[in-house]
Amino acid sequence: MSIALVTGASRGIGRSCALALAATGTTVVVNYSRSPAAALEVVTAIESAGGQAMAVQADVSVPEQVDALFASIIEKYGRLDILVNNAGITRDGLLLRMKLEDWKAVIDLNLTGVFLCLKAAAKIMLKQRCGRIINIASTSGVAGNAGQANYSAAKSGVLGLTRSAARELATRGITVNAVAPGFIATDMTDGLDLSGILTQIPLGRVGQPEEVAGLVRFLGTDPAAAYITGQVMLIDGGMIIA
Ligand code: NAP
Repeated sequence: MSIALVTGASRGIGRSCALALAATGTTVVVNYSRSPAAALEVVTAIESAGGQAMAVQADVSVPEQVDALFASIIEKYGRLDILVNNAGITRDGLLLRMKLEDWKAVIDLNLTGVFLCLKAAAKIMLKQRCGRIINIASTSGVAGNAGQANYSAAKSGVLGLTRSAARELATRGITVNAVAPGFIATDMTDGLDLSGILTQIPLGRVGQPEEVAGLVRFLGTDPAAAYITGQVMLIDGGMIIA
């Protein structure tokens, strides 16, 4: 039995990742912080389709709550095969007006939260000598974005963390990759004026959470993705073409 943890799986991209992994027969731990009803809806959707899941509340920016989250996974399943570090927030503002609390909140969850979960998962996966870690970054972490200094810094940090962890963990059969979405239709982008943005996307539309989930599912697949590690995969409709 394969076990996956998706952080921030109650809504948006995390929700789609949970459903996509469950559809492959993987048992999914649906983490959430403040939306219990939405997380339970994800569990119900997975179970209705014949899969298995459990919801676990934890703010993954808080070390004690991350410890409790991983302890509950080990207590229930005794292993962890796939970690999707997805939980993330924005607190946008121009650099000169950005409050320290908005800087810290974004770094604490989007970067430190990824570090805490990656470290906890690696401890388990090192013993198993196998595992797949997928970090959800962003094109903002690749190219920067005006009004998102905190978010871009955190997501760039995730790219460095991904590359270093990939190098450290490779000999034990653990791969670590990052997925960097462009603009995806979720609560996070709801309300943004996308008219100017669409002109910068060659495919001429925003992405759907299911499209990101398809890439995450592939990176979690054994053996198809077993030889990919330390990579950053953009899924952005062609917004950044290197
Ligand atoms: P979203 O719709 O706002 O969903 C965010 C998810 O994160 C929710 O399930 C939320 O759960 C959870 N979450 C928030 N704070 C948390 C915490 N402290 N601990 C645990 N979970 C927490 O966001 P999204 O658009 O799906 O984004 C998902 C990831 O993709 C993020 O890392 C984001 O930066 C990245 N991303 C998104 C886009 C985009 O265009 N949407 C583009 C690039 C990258 P609760 O409701 O329970 O709090």
